[in-house]
Amino acid sequence: MNVNDTIAAVSTPRGKGGIAVIRISGEDAIAVASRAFLPKSGKPLSALESNRSTYGTIVAGGSEEIDDGMAVIFRAPHSFTGEDTVEISCHGGLLVTAEVLAAILAAGARAAEAGEFTRRAFLAGKLGLSEAEALGSLLDADTHGRLRLARSGLAGKLHAAVRAQYDRLCLVMSRLYAAIDYPDEEIDEPSRLQLTETLRGCRADILKLIDTYKSGRAILEGIPTVLCGKPNVGKSSLYNRLVGHDAAIVTSVAGTTRDILEATVPLGDLTLRLCDTAGLHDAGEDVVENIGMERAKEKLREAELILAVFDGSAPLDEADEALLAAPNEAGYRVALINKSDKPLLVDRARLGRHFSCVLEVSAETGEGLDALAQWIEGTYGTEGMTLGVDPVVANARQHAALLGAADALATAIAALAEGYSEDMIAEGVERAMQGLAEVDGRQVSEDIVSGIFSHFCVGK
Ligand code: GDP
Repeated sequence: MNVNDTIAAVSTPRGKGGIAVIRISGEDAIAVASRAFLPKSGKPLSALESNRSTYGTIVAGGSEEIDDGMAVIFRAPHSFTGEDTVEISCHGGLLVTAEVLAAILAAGARAAEAGEFTRRAFLAGKLGLSEAEALGSLLDADTHGRLRLARSGLAGKLHAAVRAQYDRLCLVMSRLYAAIDYPDEEIDEPSRLQLTETLRGCRADILKLIDTYKSGRAILEGIPTVLCGKPNVGKSSLYNRLVGHDAAIVTSVAGTTRDILEATVPLGDLTLRLCDTAGLHDAGEDVVENIGMERAKEKLREAELILAVFDGSAPLDEADEALLAAPNEAGYRVALINKSDKPLLVDRARLGRHFSCVLEVSAETGEGLDALAQWIEGTYGTEGMTLGVDPVVANARQHAALLGAADALATAIAALAEGYSEDMIAEGVERAMQGLAEVDGRQVSEDIVSGIFSHFCVGK
């Protein structure tokens, strides 16, 4: 991909709208725009002040009028991409927009690829990779939690937190290099202790950042959650209550839910990726029921949060006992005692011994579901977190880079404790710095960068 030519694209969504915006960026952006946009003032477009708009006519081939519109020039480096940029607003019709873009391409621009404007902004150092990723998330955001998480990334909260640790390690490195280059500067015992302290502090802060991924992932990707239990305890009813519409068929015939139903359920700032499974029971020879059961077991293995449902209006029976005995591989297991609108006959204390949390709920009245939401928010750490203000690790790439940094620091701390030479310690610290730099893309491969920007839409 050429990164020096001038690119153009429609930056507003394809379709009918009040206006559409066509963005042009690159060295020749102003010259290209001047060929397609003639200001009504009669002054050449290139004479327009930065960040001011002007009214004019958009023409094809230098004279054929296509539309009227406004143009704004953002001169380098004070633009989103860091390059000269012109934004032309025209009427938002499908054909008119396509003709304006065609006129601009004919005037010398190349059609931009997906995410190419943001990629240029990244290459120009206008934003770090974690901020670019947050921008992508902002455009995709479909829950308030996701939007606020993206805002904090875009505001550079993670960037700043990671940068602070990087700068701390820079100071450590200069101390280590001084000792390597000038034997007189040898690190004595008190200095070693001080260095250990600094590296430990830095690692602890990185681990704290790593911990936020649990919340970041729960907000962005959603928590893989499974509703399970024997037939007729009210799984489908609870599923419908949580999802908010009649997604699952609810009947009083045991074993009606044969397949897996999945839905995305916003829960405060978090999202549940909720599966309602076929009830776990002996399906005998019924092939369809057996397939449903196999899928249910698979979902149970993949789940991070298991909501085991019990009928509170009846004592525990053998089928319930099987659920108690199920291995606890998932992160969290919650027992939901359903039908709390009826007299309680289930052994609550016994459930308490097998689950991280036991809650009485009613799918019929909705009672107890707030407590469930509260427990999940508390467990996933979003309760005490100020989204949009606190830094949050938002994806697996950032998480892996930080884990690498924490590991490398552990090696450096061990090397210090065992009295290894300064260059051995420096090696660990340097690797930790590389990990930190990766978070913001200062040390990532071209493939990773391309992968991230290819998920953006054209025009962004
Ligand atoms: P599933 O087989 O576990 O999915 O159970 P369903 O959701 O199909 O519910 C089985 C029966 O229990 C239906 O007749 C529901 O109306 C009833 N039911 C479900 N939840 C409640 C509840 O909270 N209170 C009462 N009284 N009945 C419920």
